[in-house]
Amino acid sequence: MKLNSSSSYNNQDAFVLLLSKKGLSSEELPKTLPKHIQEEIKSYNVSDSKSLEYRTYKEKHYFFVKLQKTNEEYRLLGNKVRTTLPKTIASVFISGSKENTFSFGEGLLLSNYQFLKYRKESDKEKYLLEQVDFSANLNQDKITELKASVDAVNWARDMVNEPVSYLTAEQFAIEMELKAKTLGIQAKVLQKSQIEALKMGGLLAVNKGSIDPPTFTILEYKPKKPVNKKPIVLVGKGVVYDTGGLSLKPTPGSMDSMKCDMAGAAMMAGTIFAAAEMKLDVHLIVLIPATDNRPGLNAYAPGDIITMFEGTTVEVLNTDAEGRLILADALAYSNKLNPELVIDAATLTGAAVRAIGQKASCVMGNANQKILDKLCEAGMETDERAVLLPFWDDYFEEMKSKIADLNNLGGGMAGMITAGKFLEYFVKAPYVHFDIAGPAYLEKPQNYRGHGGTGYGIRLLIHFLKNWN
Ligand SMILES: [Zn+2]
Repeated sequence: MKLNSSSSYNNQDAFVLLLSKKGLSSEELPKTLPKHIQEEIKSYNVSDSKSLEYRTYKEKHYFFVKLQKTNEEYRLLGNKVRTTLPKTIASVFISGSKENTFSFGEGLLLSNYQFLKYRKESDKEKYLLEQVDFSANLNQDKITELKASVDAVNWARDMVNEPVSYLTAEQFAIEMELKAKTLGIQAKVLQKSQIEALKMGGLLAVNKGSIDPPTFTILEYKPKKPVNKKPIVLVGKGVVYDTGGLSLKPTPGSMDSMKCDMAGAAMMAGTIFAAAEMKLDVHLIVLIPATDNRPGLNAYAPGDIITMFEGTTVEVLNTDAEGRLILADALAYSNKLNPELVIDAATLTGAAVRAIGQKASCVMGNANQKILDKLCEAGMETDERAVLLPFWDDYFEEMKSKIADLNNLGGGMAGMITAGKFLEYFVKAPYVHFDIAGPAYLEKPQNYRGHGGTGYGIRLLIHFLKNWN
């Protein structure tokens, strides 16, 4: 997809005008628009109730978007325009103010995403849009930001949508490495023998029931003059498929969508990709422990006691609480990097989904309140909402074991918080935990988020990191 800045409408297949507050002066209308269309627009009341007008004339498509109140409304209208346009349209011109155009473009481009790799008739289904031109109000920096974030979100959606028959832990590491190379990001993939040498007992235990080896991927983006002296470390849960292990999940409504259990990893890798493409002045390191969780072979069993990377022992009470085991090793590994801040993301608990549904993630942590607030604000700005939960120390009591140091299950209540407290135990730096089990994956299509992997969290984190200092 090519995104360009363009001073005027030049007969692209579709024309979109986002009307401004002041209404329309005749000079704003491109002379290339058909005369009768120009006359019609001038008669519009910019703030009446109908938000979108649509006309076609001589195989061209014209959209007029009335003044909206929020960025999200513009994103939703971007989705509406994409779904209204024929698949064969190749070029669109969008004219409007800087902020409105950005949000509208986001909605349009995210809606243009398709996952057709496994469709026999993909040629007929494919959107042919290849060029979006923005009026000069949207400068090159904003166009780069838009392209970088949409590319990263769509890459993350591809990863989540790929089934485990293709996307094993090894393949996932290869995909991250390939993408990293195109962006000048350093990538290192630790293979099973190296993971064994490091004694990452959590990652290795979860992998025991699988015939596919685990991987541990390290991505680093270090700009010339970073604003942070110590790196920000992003950790993502990379369970490429979760059967629950011996604590097997039921198939319908549960195991059938579990290819999405690496969405946290896709979010963090996507974030570093977008940051590098935007050339953000922030030093970032991403850690991705990856494996599938299966009940085969010598699978780890409820009742097992495992020794983690940093030496803590954990009594396994449920093999379906595997995410925290692989994350704990990666979080403990982050201590070696002396980070300024550690953020992790994981499709971690059903409790998070039961608490607030799919409309937001649960966020919690011991980082200072300003950081937590800024993350939640970034969630509102991007409509990737995140809700702050309490993180009191007494929640940790449930994670203690009588025969080992910790257990991996906790009690029946507030499971998203007790899971967070388990993870916090392994991190020395200020820490934030995102449980994205709700918004990461949608069974039914939902506006520009589509269906399947949503790529949740990348736009939120980019918004947050952009303003880091
Ligand atoms: Zn699980």
